[in-house]
Amino acid sequence: MDTIVRKVDINSIDRNVMEEASEILKKGGMVAFPTETVYGLGADALDEEASAKIYRAKGRPSDNPLIVHIADMNQIDRLVKKIPDKAKKLMERFWPGPITVILEKSDLVPKGTTGGLDTVAIRMPSHPIALELIRTSGIPIAAPSANVSGRPSPTQSSHVEEDLGGKVDMIIDGGPVGIGIESTIVDCTSETPVILRPGYVTKEMLEETIGDVDTDRALTEPMSEGVVPKAPGMKYKHYAPKADLTMYRGDVQSVILKINEMAKTDTDAGRKVGIIASDETLDGYRQGTVISIGTRTDEDTIAHNLYRVLREFDSLGVDVIYGETFEDNRLGQAIMNRLLKAAGYHIENV
Ligand code: AMP
Ligand code: MG
Repeated sequence: MDTIVRKVDINSIDRNVMEEASEILKKGGMVAFPTETVYGLGADALDEEASAKIYRAKGRPSDNPLIVHIADMNQIDRLVKKIPDKAKKLMERFWPGPITVILEKSDLVPKGTTGGLDTVAIRMPSHPIALELIRTSGIPIAAPSANVSGRPSPTQSSHVEEDLGGKVDMIIDGGPVGIGIESTIVDCTSETPVILRPGYVTKEMLEETIGDVDTDRALTEPMSEGVVPKAPGMKYKHYAPKADLTMYRGDVQSVILKINEMAKTDTDAGRKVGIIASDETLDGYRQGTVISIGTRTDEDTIAHNLYRVLREFDSLGVDVIYGETFEDNRLGQAIMNRLLKAAGYHIENV
């Protein structure tokens, strides 16, 4: 199929493009659009066949549920059985914004959208184009990240074109996204809510709002046998660049030394090396293609650049990638979660 690509200015949204995209959604088609976290691949959440198209386009396993995006609080009542008080508090504090809440689904939401589960993931994004698209269409939009399953999530329109060009009806190019990593997912179906995926909204921020919050065991013990994450998507290989990525943990100087040593061996053997550095360490490397992922003094920049840097190594065609690790407090938790998954949990202490 031909994919229509339309540029939209976030500060002056073209109504005609919103109408055009809405018509596609109403007919059961797919539209990729920017959100503040990453680009999403959208279709009508209440139309099982439209959801099925998303799974096919992404090559996504059918048990990996989609997040349903709304623009208005009065859209949520018909999607869920009830909204527990803690969920309500999270919505009041963080919506519109980068947090997804899991609730018991109503009969209206097809299991084709929820990967066969009786629960549904719901988010109200804050990106003006996403909100405008949901409002104009009047449709709750099911939208996972707009990448081919397993690849790094798209943070700019060219990433979506790379992965899904020719497979979706339309891509709305609203420029690079702001945050750059996916929403925090919080399961609110139990008395103590559980973080299923770390994101921009941290555990500390959640606990300030609703008291104790648990973290899904699978996030902290990803390698242990028999521990299956409650967010089905988290069990799949994800966010991964094409080359093997290894992360090194330790004091920064030792990490630089170790990566230089590894990179020299590879380079001597004729392998093309990529190195994920930070602004502070960029000058410390002697071999390979060195790309900074951002400054250690501002984790927001690291989140913002993360997927773009992984995709850059793909287009450079490197054979192996070595990466520094970052502190895993606050936003660092989400950053390290994505990097470790991208590395297939291949991390070494130095
Ligand atoms: P993506 O939109 O590509 O970031 O993926 C959505 C994520 O939300 C995946 O990790 C899913 O497993 C997770 N998710 C969506 N719906 C549910 C649900 N009902 N219960 C648990 N996790 C969910
Ligand atoms: Mg995804």
